[in-house]
Amino acid sequence: SVHWAGRDNPHEQLQLECSRINQIFNQPFHVRGDSTQLLTASIGALVSTDWESLTVDDVSKGVWSAEKTARQTGKVCVYNQVLHKANQRRLKLEKELHRGLETGMVKPYFQPIVSSSGHELVGFEALARFEHPQMGMISPGEFVPVAEQSGMMSDLGNVILRESMAGLKRLTDKQPENASLYVSVNISVLQLMSEDFAGNLIRMVDGSGIARGSLRLEVTESLFVENMDHAVQQLAQLRAAGIRIALDDFGTGYSSLSYLRRLPIDVLKIDRSFVTRSHEDESNVAILRTVYDLARELSLEVVAEGIENLQELNVLNSLGPMSLQGYYFSKPLPEKMLGDFLSAWVKGNSKNASPSPDSIRSSQNRPSS
Ligand code: C2E
Ligand code: MG
Ligand code: MG
Repeated sequence: SVHWAGRDNPHEQLQLECSRINQIFNQPFHVRGDSTQLLTASIGALVSTDWESLTVDDVSKGVWSAEKTARQTGKVCVYNQVLHKANQRRLKLEKELHRGLETGMVKPYFQPIVSSSGHELVGFEALARFEHPQMGMISPGEFVPVAEQSGMMSDLGNVILRESMAGLKRLTDKQPENASLYVSVNISVLQLMSEDFAGNLIRMVDGSGIARGSLRLEVTESLFVENMDHAVQQLAQLRAAGIRIALDDFGTGYSSLSYLRRLPIDVLKIDRSFVTRSHEDESNVAILRTVYDLARELSLEVVAEGIENLQELNVLNSLGPMSLQGYYFSKPLPEKMLGDFLSAWVKGNSKNASPSPDSIRSSQNRPSS
């Protein structure tokens, strides 16, 4: 990071200074005389005409965040209004998330998962939502990284785990005929790295009143890249206790086929990117078929994510039996809508030999996800 206070034409001087620094990095460096290294520099800068109004903290935070952006997007980044707004929102979110976790503003929504044969409801994926009275509905894509970076991931994870299991328990207490439904909860790498994650979770399930077999955990491949041994050991312990493990977003990560065999998993979730417009894209169909056959070969259950229309559904059906999840069936729903969804779903299914979710979807008062 460069803290540099120019006087006249600060932006022009800054550019000159930065290209001077970058030139240094255009040549290789000789390390201990025998190896040559090519290094790159990323420069974050902050320009101000009113230094008196800035605190040291303002300056270092601004420069730090510009440098972080420079590392991702290019060699030089000058702190600007857009970055400033993003930073302000992030700081606010961090503060509000603390409060939100304590006051029940963060909760799981439940997205139905159905069988391809007969479209019977088999379970739900729990998806975290932050319902803020002023900021509105905030998506996990935004607040999960904030929780991870500010040490709140364990708390967030526990809230979602606890509420997902409690939600399923309340639902199946009211409708005992649905006792076989499961809830599938996303787990962050940071949660799995916490002290005795598996042991704590097993105690949590046993205290929740749902069967261990009614809980699934969704993990991503990134988990296995850095901490393979620890991750495998924790997941194996959970599996031995009867909790199912699903590998989420399959196909988007490092997916080495040989290592797949070594992972303690039961379910493969095929990423939405292969499902979307698969009916228009032969290469996606080929990938879907390969992944499907591979999963069957390894005796893994398959769940396809992100089905939005009938054409995509037809492609998946041509592969063989699996479970299905996507807006075509339902968006993620707040807990209070699950009872009605279930009743309507069962009614729709029993009336129809080949059930169409359209009638149910149009009768749903769907929330935005
Ligand atoms: P994911 O686990 O792959 O979840 C599926 C995402 O796809 C969800 O987005 C869901 O709402 C969305 N989706 C489902 N069906 C469709 C469809 O037909 N079309 C489209 N366009 N999207 C669909 P969401 O809820 O925004 O979650 C995004 C990601 O955030 C999740 O991806 C998951 O990685 C993460 N996440 C969500 N909740 C939690 C949580 O409690 N803990 C952790 N660690 N991560 C979470
Ligand atoms: Mg998931
Ligand atoms: Mg996924």
